[in-house]
Amino acid sequence: MIVCANFKANKTRQETHAYMAVVESFVSANDISDTVIVFPPFTALGHEQRNILIGAQNGYPVRNGAFTGEIALEQLEEFGIGTILIGHSERRHVLGESQKFIAEKFRFFAEKGFAIVYCVGEPLEVREEGNDALMAYIEKQFEGIDLEYADLVIAYEPVWAIGTGLTPSLRDIELIHGALRAKTSAPLLYGGSVKVDNAREIMGLENVDGVLVGSAALSANDFCEMIAQAAELGASGR
Ligand code: PEP
Repeated sequence: MIVCANFKANKTRQETHAYMAVVESFVSANDISDTVIVFPPFTALGHEQRNILIGAQNGYPVRNGAFTGEIALEQLEEFGIGTILIGHSERRHVLGESQKFIAEKFRFFAEKGFAIVYCVGEPLEVREEGNDALMAYIEKQFEGIDLEYADLVIAYEPVWAIGTGLTPSLRDIELIHGALRAKTSAPLLYGGSVKVDNAREIMGLENVDGVLVGSAALSANDFCEMIAQAAELGASGR
C-alpha cells in the first residue's frame, strides 16, 4: 500500500519536523514496509528523508530561471526530492493549470526520473452526467501523460470529494478504479475526504493500492492510524 499526506499550505517548518518525528518513529517501531509519502509545504522540504519519502506538491518544469514565485528542479534536487505531485485538483481548478502545462510538467519530471503521483478527478457536474461522461473527462486528463511511465502512481480524487467530507460510494470507487486499472498498471490511490473512519474500507477495495489524504492527515496520530490500517490490510493478504 501507499499512504500519502498532502499538507497543502498548512504547517510551518517546525510543525512539519515535529510531525515527521512522530510518523518516523511510528514507521520504525511498527516495522512498516508500506510506502509512506508526505508532501509538506516547500519551506519544510529540507527535512532529512529517513523511512518516509518527502515529495514536492508542485514544481516548475525547468532546471532554474526567471519564474518568479516558482520552485524548479535545482531547488528540489538540493533537498534530495525525487517525488512530485502533478495535476492536483487545486492546481487545476484554483490555480488554473491547463492540461497542456500539466503534461509539460509531467514530461519534464519524468525525464528527470522523479516518482510522480498524478491526480485525476471529475467535478460534481460531470459526475452527475454518469459514468461514461466521468471516464471521458478523466481520459482528457490523461492527454500528454505517459501511463507506461515506470515510476507512476495515479491518484483518483473526485474534485467534489476533496475537503468536503463527501466521498463516492465504495461501489463507485471500485468501478472507477476498475476502469483505471484497464488503462494502466500503475498503483491506484483514492483521495477525497479519506479519514481514519473510512480509510480501511476504501483501502480494502479491489484496485485501490493506497490513499492520498489531505485534511485528515494533518494530525500525525490520525495519519499513523491510517498507515497502521494499510499495514494490517497488507498483512491480511489484501
Ligand atoms: C487532497 O488534497 O489531495 C485531498 C484528498 O484532500 P482531503 O483529504 O482534505 O479531501
